[in-house]
Amino acid sequence: MNSDTKLIRTQTARSHNREHATPLYLTSSFIFDDAEQGRAIFADEMEGNIYSRYSNPNTTEFIDKICEMEGAEAGLAFSSGMAAVFASFAGLLKSGDHVVAYRAIFGSTHQLLTTLFPRWGISNTYVDAATPDALLAAITPATKMIFLETPSNPGLELVDLAWLCKTVKQHYPHIIINVDNCFATPYLQKPMDYGVDIVSHSATKYMDGQGRVLGGVVVGKKELIKEMMFFIRHTGPAMSAFNAWLLSKSLETLPLRMDRHCSNALKVAQVLEASKQVEQVRYPHLPSHPQYQLALKQMKQGGGIVTFIIKGGFDSAKKFMDALSMILISSNLGDSRTIATHPASTTHAKLSESERQSIGIFPGSIRISVGLENIDDILNDIATALQKTS
Ligand SMILES: *Cc1c(COP(=O)(O)O)cnc(C)c1O
Repeated sequence: MNSDTKLIRTQTARSHNREHATPLYLTSSFIFDDAEQGRAIFADEMEGNIYSRYSNPNTTEFIDKICEMEGAEAGLAFSSGMAAVFASFAGLLKSGDHVVAYRAIFGSTHQLLTTLFPRWGISNTYVDAATPDALLAAITPATKMIFLETPSNPGLELVDLAWLCKTVKQHYPHIIINVDNCFATPYLQKPMDYGVDIVSHSATKYMDGQGRVLGGVVVGKKELIKEMMFFIRHTGPAMSAFNAWLLSKSLETLPLRMDRHCSNALKVAQVLEASKQVEQVRYPHLPSHPQYQLALKQMKQGGGIVTFIIKGGFDSAKKFMDALSMILISSNLGDSRTIATHPASTTHAKLSESERQSIGIFPGSIRISVGLENIDDILNDIATALQKTS
């Protein structure tokens, strides 16, 4: 079966009720047929559910689908994307370890590395995606992990995964490469194909895709996931059965939704680029993107996010956002509805002006998470708002 078919056909074994869709398993714990079965499952001699903090049929079905898409051996599901990202560090690192992270990463991940982990003796160095050699220069004998997002938020810079994995694995085979693949989704980009060790996700974004639930997932090599499993069993950031049930259903339509997000986003990017009021547009599959060739190679399509700089700075950006009528202002992304965000005053407000500029955020930057609406309605709303801004 093809991978998009497997997303639809992967299903928890049917019960004697012959249900068509997977039922919701709202049960905190599971029973054993006899004492010997309980012993064998606890001893890892036999697979089986014990307690929903460890596993549940709904979370297992969800994880199986992500493993299938990412080409991973094993995975774990979490209550949110940040719980997943946190566990991908905390479950594998110890005091004295060092992380090299690309500068343009999600705000809360930045806080984890900058503020929280140093309390526990885990240090970090940030590097710029634009200077590949800086990455190698930042590696120390204590470096245990490299963390990155590609494309980055909201600057949409790419990291060349083939180059990174080849270079790092050749000289430092013990370093774990950890990629947050939330923006692209495994439908568009498969980091493990290049040699990435673990992939983390916020399932809250495109995996749900309809703005309803929080969720996170980490997939990767079996030994690493097993090591993380110990951490999560005893710290408890598990995904709820309800969220897993909903997210697994959502994955059935992920390829369809991503195709539409991407085709709508490409048109939005082209129209914005043609406007005299726009200084710059960033979209991976736009020929003007500085890494266009890499984007064509690494991403099946350009994704659902377009970031542009409107002429006239913050004032114009504010006017444009307020002039939108169908498109709503929110800090979320990856929704069926088109969303506009002003990163400099919201998601990235805590950074200094120079920190923002180093990751491609300017006072006039606007991020559009392009939704699934009819493209004519999206373009009309943008054109009208641009008119009102001029
Ligand atoms: C949203 C997001 C997260 C955090 O996910 P939550 O589900 O909100 O906890 C992490 N990384 C990226 C790239 C995100 O966009």
